[in-house]
Amino acid sequence: MDFTTLKLAHQKTLDRIQAACQAAQRDPETVALLAVSKTRDAEAVEALATLGQRAFGENYVSEGVGKIQALANPDLIWHFIGPIQSNKTKLLAEHFDWVQTVDRLKLVKRLNDQRPSSAPQLNVLIQVNLDGEEQKAGCAPSEIADLAQAIHQAPRLRLRGLMAIPAVRQALHQQRAVFADLKAHFDQLQTQYPHIDTLSAGMSNDMEAAIAEGANLVRVGTALFGPRQKA
Ligand SMILES: *Cc1c(COP(=O)(O)O)cnc(C)c1O
Repeated sequence: MDFTTLKLAHQKTLDRIQAACQAAQRDPETVALLAVSKTRDAEAVEALATLGQRAFGENYVSEGVGKIQALANPDLIWHFIGPIQSNKTKLLAEHFDWVQTVDRLKLVKRLNDQRPSSAPQLNVLIQVNLDGEEQKAGCAPSEIADLAQAIHQAPRLRLRGLMAIPAVRQALHQQRAVFADLKAHFDQLQTQYPHIDTLSAGMSNDMEAAIAEGANLVRVGTALFGPRQKA
């Protein structure tokens, strides 16, 4: 993708966020864009970084670590947003700033043990499986409280909020209903942990619905970089 196209797509995405905030009577400053750079090369990340984009999301551990090391840019903030295999937690703890997909207690202990003492606390979101889809990652809503307590008690981790990837829905009101459900879980959790501040929801095809329901970190790939190549 050439730079002009990328620049246009970036501006269009920021405009969408702004319009969605306006429609929801929210301050656009309260919604951040996470650029999902999975399958895109380090050059694409660098190009977007020159446009002021700082936060990037990766789904595959070795691919993400490769880009983090290749770019070695201390201004960039890296989020892991893919499913986590337990044997990959060390690389996550050593290289990423955020892990959005913590969904079981075993991961909490491993990430805490493996976060280097020289690094700041690892920012953690709990991934919630709102649709009860068996094959999908994410904890059941009933498991949020136990996970949150474990993360809160882990000295090398910092609980920041919730994340979800709902099943695809086409109608706006259906998209909004599931994000409203997520927001209710977030509000509930915040009564116990007032410092939590991040609700990661919304992607290229449903960011308007997520923003309408209170998301403050939208994860966007396709709308920025174009369609991904099929593996
Ligand atoms: C790929 C991915 C995205 C981005 O999806 P697009 O539809 O390309 O915007 C967001 N979140 C997660 C967890 C993803 O895996």
